[in-house]
Order: sequence, then C-alpha cells, then structure tokens
Amino acid sequence: MNCELQNILDKTASDCRKMTRNGKQATYIPELAKTDPGLFSLSATTVDGATFSAGDSGALFSMQSIAKIISLSFSLEMFGYDYVFARVGMEPCSEPFNSIMKLEMTSSIPLNPFINSGAIVIAGIMAERFGRGAIDHLLEFAWKMAGRKRRLCVNERVFMSENSTADRNRALAYFMHSIGTLSAVDKSLILYFKLCSIYADTNDLSVMGGTLANAGLNPITGERVLSRETACTVTGLMSVCGLYDESGEFAVKVGVPAKSGVSGGIICAVPGKMGLAVFSPLLDAGGNSVAGMETLSRLSREIKLRGM
Ligand code: GLN
Repeated sequence: MNCELQNILDKTASDCRKMTRNGKQATYIPELAKTDPGLFSLSATTVDGATFSAGDSGALFSMQSIAKIISLSFSLEMFGYDYVFARVGMEPCSEPFNSIMKLEMTSSIPLNPFINSGAIVIAGIMAERFGRGAIDHLLEFAWKMAGRKRRLCVNERVFMSENSTADRNRALAYFMHSIGTLSAVDKSLILYFKLCSIYADTNDLSVMGGTLANAGLNPITGERVLSRETACTVTGLMSVCGLYDESGEFAVKVGVPAKSGVSGGIICAVPGKMGLAVFSPLLDAGGNSVAGMETLSRLSREIKLRGM
C-alpha cells in the first residue's frame, strides 16, 4: 500500500502541477503575491505514521485560514465546548469568508469559527486569557500537532503585510465590538494576523491532518495532542464549512473534512485513515486553490478516501 500510495501521489502531482496556470493569486495581502505561483506540493501522513510527499515538498507558506483549525482545537481543549460555542456558532455560511452581511443580518455571534469573524472571536478568547503570550501557546500546540523537529514560527513579513492591509478584518472586528461580541479589538486582530502568518509546509500540515484523523493522537510522535471529542468537533466543522461557500462543491467532489487558506494550501483529515495537504497558490473565486481542489478530487477517487 505504501509504495502504491507514493506512486499515486507522484502521478497526481505531475498531472495537477500543469494546472498551476489557472486561477489568481491572493493579492489583498501584498506579501502573498510574492510567492512563486508555479509551486506545487502534496503530502500524506497515514494514521500508522508513514509520510509521503511529492512535488516541491519543503516549500514553506503561511497557513492563513488553515491555522483556524489550530486556534479552534486549542480553545476547545482549554475552555471547553460550551464556552467556545456560546461565542461562535457551528453552521455553514453561504457568503465569502470575510463577509460582514450574515453577521449583521442573522445573529450577534459569527456563524462558525472558520469564517474570519468567527476566527477573530476565537483569537479574542485567547487574547483575553493569555495576553501577549497567546501566540506562543498556539505555536507550541501547532508544533505538537505537526510533530516535526523544526519548530513552527510566525513569518513577520506576512504578519506586517496583513496588519497593514486589514481594513476588512478591522471592519468585522469593530462591528462585533459595537454589538458586544468582541471586547479587545486590537489584541484580537494582532493575534489573528499572527496565527494566519504561521509558516509551514505540506509535510507539517499532513501530520496535523493525521493527528485529527487519528482522533487527536499524533501518528508520528504517538502523543495525545487533543481529545477525541475535540478531533470530532473540529473535523465535523471542517466537513460543513472548511471551504467557505465552496464547502458543498468540495463535499461532492472530495467528501472528506478539509480546510483551505488564501495562500493556496488545503489540509484534509480523513478519519481513521490519513492526513493530506496540498499547496498551489493560484485560487478560484471562492479563495480556494484551483490545482489543490483538483488534486484532492482525483485522490478521493484514486484512493477511495470516502471508503467506497
Ligand atoms: N488572513 C486571511 C484574511 O484574514 C485569511 C483568509 C483565508 O485564508 N481565507 O483574510
């Protein structure tokens, strides 16, 4: 199986790399526009701890919204389910990830922790409790999920770039402050931008996905990083809102819990089987990697990720 899986990854990577001319890079965070658009990498980590990679593995990129998995998992572990879900909802959103509309029209709390408003609220919970030390807790937790020797860190250039061009996120945060949903606007935003700027490669992310797929037990180190309940909650949310307003299409084409980010990464946690991660910077209109979506939809069929 292992040799076969490596062959499938190699073949899929060489086919899908050709698609790295389709789509558009995210430019609203200027630093992201500097990434080589032709980069492509793909990694898998099975729940029994075998890892495989193809393409430009080792290419580092900022996690962007994929990091919302880390802050949600850590908050659930620290504060518990009831506390977290009193502050954010758990329903899918049919609007873009940075939309303010649903927040104003439907409820006083964000629809879920994976849209920007929800992730800013989660960052707010952490900033309230840990102050400036919050990012160190998140980095430590991310490193345990990734189970690699190299520590994960924030890319300062991406952070500065986000922080200086964040009108939309500031608008969301100030709106939530005005309705009593968010207390410390600046501290929450700074932590949120740092979180999005954590640098990782697809190897790191596939182990993180593997940890979720393995019910919270890191498949490489054997360490319990999060509880089975947290892994179930996070993967459940990934299934319904991991790819924003393209979550439905992704469920049909790929059919496994996943989370995307605007730098071009997508992480998957295939329960009981493996973690997968793909990176290719050009995006479709929903902010999801074009080649990444195609790669995962092919792999879903090739290795029967849905179990049938
Ligand atoms: N940092 C990005 C933002 O706040 C994250 C969005 C994303 O990856 N979808 O807009």
